[in-house]
Amino acid sequence: MNGKLLIIGAGGVASAEFAKCCQNSKVFKEIMLASRTKEKCDALAAKWADKTDAKLFTEQVDADNTAELIALIERFKPDVVLNLALPYQDLTIMDACLATKTHYVDTANYEPLDTAKFEYKWQWDYHDRYKEAGITALLGSGFDPGVTGVFCAYAMKHYFDEIHYIDILDCNGGDHGYPFATNFNPEINIREVSANGRYWENGKWIETAPMEIKREYDFEEVGKKDMYLLYHEELESLAKNIKGLKRIRFFMTFGQSYLTHLQCLENVGMTSIKPIEYEGKQIVPIQFLKAVLPDPASLGPRTKGKTNIGCIMQGVKDGKPLNYYVYNICDHEECYKEVGTQAISYTTGVPAMIGAMLIMQGWGLNSGEAGTAAAGSPAGVFNTEDFDPDPFMDALNKWGLPWKECFEPVLVE
Ligand code: NDP
Repeated sequence: MNGKLLIIGAGGVASAEFAKCCQNSKVFKEIMLASRTKEKCDALAAKWADKTDAKLFTEQVDADNTAELIALIERFKPDVVLNLALPYQDLTIMDACLATKTHYVDTANYEPLDTAKFEYKWQWDYHDRYKEAGITALLGSGFDPGVTGVFCAYAMKHYFDEIHYIDILDCNGGDHGYPFATNFNPEINIREVSANGRYWENGKWIETAPMEIKREYDFEEVGKKDMYLLYHEELESLAKNIKGLKRIRFFMTFGQSYLTHLQCLENVGMTSIKPIEYEGKQIVPIQFLKAVLPDPASLGPRTKGKTNIGCIMQGVKDGKPLNYYVYNICDHEECYKEVGTQAISYTTGVPAMIGAMLIMQGWGLNSGEAGTAAAGSPAGVFNTEDFDPDPFMDALNKWGLPWKECFEPVLVE
């Protein structure tokens, strides 16, 4: 491995991730930032150039175009491609990595542009082809999914014989002062929260209406918040990968103002992904809405407060019941001071950097299959919980997302 990373996308998450890669120039010796709008790449490179020993490069690329991606990968010859564009580009980028035999990492699973539905099937289907090509795909290396999978693998490795119940709690106690804005890409965010809720119990998926299940939880350093059950992509991989699991749910906090605005926007059709005709032109309402909402990148300087994201697990060890909560608390203003983004981008960008670093260094699987520093990790398509959690957990502490443990957590009813 030559320490060469190609990052695709230059939005909020990429801004935080790129800053962390620049700090980690012992591992990332050459970094190329390529995105649809090259000026954003140039601005980020200019911001960090005199604060890093890494060599920085920028390019324009259309990540919907596999041939263009292949040409870029062949020119730069990265060890790893880190996809921080949008979930719609996952498959074109995976195809380009396959064609050039280059390792692949992303933070969100594939979603077709015209159907608000995400599942791992499309990407898991690449497993045999990646294995044959001798390359690794690490899927969902953000916070959730990403760190949440690592937390579960860590609990399984060190504390439990079986985990029966997992509740993932994603709390954002940040306040940006706008009546309505989303903390990451508005289109992806609104598609996620306006979909039906879903959780997994006793081998079956149980569907709920959007925001139907509500709980209150008292989050450390944030306080009491209402949280709502959502479907989230790591439920699919963890339900498959965690031994003995009986139920897994995901909850996210939302304030009343956010929900009231969302409801109103939905009622008037502004969150629809179906194109409509407007003055002789086809427009997609949710894309138009994205254009009028504050750019998530602009929230950084105004957001105050903290995030608290983690997993509460219940299971057994040596025949005795055991409860365990592992979580990270992250401060929006501290993140902005350090890398120029709010905590949502930071908590995604740091694990994305760690995932790319570990794949480069030959991160081994939980199954015992080791990687090598020369060739990277074992070949195939994997989720974060498939890998040995220890190096990831150490890196979280080192790179800005320290975690805490509690063995007597308040459980979610
Ligand atoms: P942004 O919208 O801020 O950034 C997306 C970037 O991708 C933009 O720079 C955009 O270009 C670029 N892009 C979009 N389409 C293309 C294309 N066809 N070709 C090249 N570049 C393209 O999103 P975020 O940074 O907020 O999110 C990035 C990813 O992270 C998303 O997939 C999101 O779902 C995921 N995420 C994951 C989380 C986790 O915890 N796992 C949490 C939060 C986000 P342009 O600048 O021209 O618009």
